[in-house]
Amino acid sequence: MKLPRTALLLACAALLLRCAADPTATSPRPPTAPPAAPLAAAPAAPDTAALLARLDAALPADRLIEWRRHLHQHPELSNQEKETARFVAERLREMGLAPKTGIARHGVTALIAGGHPGPTVALRADMDALPVTEEVDLPFKSVATGTYEGRSVGVMHACGHDTHTAMLLAAAQALMAVRAELHGNVLLIFQPAEEGVPAAEQPAGAEAMVQAGVLRDPEVSAIFGLHVMAGLASGQIGWRRGPLMAAADRFEIVVEGRQTHGSKPWNGIDPVVVGSQIVSALQTIVARQVDLVREPAVVTVGQFEAGVRNNIIPERARLVGTIRTFADDMRDDIHARLKRTAEQIAAASGARAVVTIERGYPVTRNDDALVDAMVPTLVRLAGDAAIETRKVTGAEDFSYYAHEVPAMFCFLGITPAEKLATADSNHSPRFVVDESALPLGARALAHLAVDWLAGEQARVTPPAR
Ligand SMILES: [Zn+2]
Ligand SMILES: [Zn+2]
Repeated sequence: MKLPRTALLLACAALLLRCAADPTATSPRPPTAPPAAPLAAAPAAPDTAALLARLDAALPADRLIEWRRHLHQHPELSNQEKETARFVAERLREMGLAPKTGIARHGVTALIAGGHPGPTVALRADMDALPVTEEVDLPFKSVATGTYEGRSVGVMHACGHDTHTAMLLAAAQALMAVRAELHGNVLLIFQPAEEGVPAAEQPAGAEAMVQAGVLRDPEVSAIFGLHVMAGLASGQIGWRRGPLMAAADRFEIVVEGRQTHGSKPWNGIDPVVVGSQIVSALQTIVARQVDLVREPAVVTVGQFEAGVRNNIIPERARLVGTIRTFADDMRDDIHARLKRTAEQIAAASGARAVVTIERGYPVTRNDDALVDAMVPTLVRLAGDAAIETRKVTGAEDFSYYAHEVPAMFCFLGITPAEKLATADSNHSPRFVVDESALPLGARALAHLAVDWLAGEQARVTPPAR
């Protein structure tokens, strides 16, 4: 059965808008904060500057686009990235690397061992696509189909993970050209299933990669990741200290009433009215009860199902929604308030509310010291277009790596500036990537790794007398 487009969009939304996609769905403007104080470009030491010049010269810009188009034309759904993983491993072997495959199903890692001893920094890309039917007429448009929750669906790289994979491959090739000069190692992480999987397949994606030990063999000391963002202009790189993307938790409230004739409501307990009261009351959690000056939060009811006919008051109603938060204690607090609100409103009418909350991806938190150390690298690459971005209420499973080691996640603009107002967001069937922005993303990954290793080397090496 082929899903209608609206159903596909709903299915996509049901993935909890897990990526950087949703902020731009409500606002076509780039999510920029008020201008921050100007930051100096990275003061690369002379030998590092020469190394970076050689690294840039080795960046395979043509192959980057070729790889991205191949991946775009051959998308695979979460936990089904078999051919994508094979493609990635083949490219890595061509570069002289020895990839490990089959990690957390289809994950691939490879270690670029530096010519000198030192710590290990990781770079991460995600590889999965979405159950979306592409509507953009590109020569490399996806016409792929797949099976999602038992249904046949179109499959598209509507979140841009094809570009993440291609950019990390290009960064890898550039890093290999300067490998002998590196004081330390670069671990490449190509992960599956960022967009989320059914409960039966969990844990998956980054959570499963972490559990498989990818950050421990060798020990990773810092990690960087990048996400393309339709709401930022090509050439822009967005960065932010602290919480960057939200925790996303799913909740379900089943209101149990008592079924009766619609003409005689006093003979039953109406779960539709009780459910409506709960929907309204849940809005007061964010509007009236939590400290919004501290961190923003969102409580959304996305599904309200009840009844079959105009003159029957049904037995039960079902509400399903999402909670977005940026601090762990606020997350727990809102969970408790939601449960209490639903249960006690139901009790007031003689109904019962059964509340289930499934914890999804945690907050994606950037390490302040790491961001402060690395922003000059972004400024060197992008100049004034390296901007401090606002928080994003979408979620990312990069958060699992960030929970383990100091991490920095950035956004890469991929929309021509003149199209920002009308560009379709990530997850849209009309999502388009301006490929001219991709070499900057690949360079950003490689430069972050090189500069971080150089910074560590400078930190542990006593100054020459
Ligand atoms: Zn996504
Ligand atoms: Zn994504």
